[in-house]
Amino acid sequence: MTEQLTVALSKGRILEQTLPLLSPLGIEPLEDPERSRNLVLPTSHPGVRLIIVRATDVPTYVAHGGADLGVAGKDVLMEQGGHGLYEPVDLGIARCRLMVAGHPGGVPAGQRLRVATKFVNMTRRHFAEQGRQVDLIKLYGSMELAPLVGLADLIVDLVDTGNTLRANGLEPLETIADISARLVVNKASMKLRHRELKPLIGRIAETAATRADR
Ligand code: AMP
Repeated sequence: MTEQLTVALSKGRILEQTLPLLSPLGIEPLEDPERSRNLVLPTSHPGVRLIIVRATDVPTYVAHGGADLGVAGKDVLMEQGGHGLYEPVDLGIARCRLMVAGHPGGVPAGQRLRVATKFVNMTRRHFAEQGRQVDLIKLYGSMELAPLVGLADLIVDLVDTGNTLRANGLEPLETIADISARLVVNKASMKLRHRELKPLIGRIAETAATRADR
């Protein structure tokens, strides 16, 4: 038997929104991935297994061959550089925007700004393109807190409904990038297992396109 194809997914939005793209191909996890403690999950398709990893680790697993395929947010790919893997399909899922946010009233002019974010590379690039020097403060979560306690003037974070910002008295100020999740593929797998992967990728792309229209 040929080796199973391994698909890397992360819990939460990506998993929730990717499973409906896989089920028309007969790929359904045999255990509830949100609850199971197993990190390798067999599926109803004998040739495919899922692995559950951190969202920021999906590109690493796929680039280094720990998985043949994966689903990663464009935010993660842009922040990390997206090196060493193919990114053949915009799945149109887990949509949001990477935004600059802060206290209402706009980006303060003049002063050197302190910006708190998990996305230091994209943030640096964004402000450099505007010719603004900023002091970056790397955080790993709850960015909204930083302006409230005077740690930062601005934050850069993912925004979907804007509810999290509003609940903390902040508002979106500038969009840096529109974000959605992408199918990513290991380069060697794409060559060596092209016959299996090509139709699989094609069907996932078709399902994603029909669902995105709704
Ligand atoms: P919201 O309150 O709907 O604007 O959602 C904002 C919160 O959800 C922030 O903590 C974001 O980091 C997170 N978030 C929103 N959309 C996404 C996404 N597509 N992927 C990952 N995190 C997200």
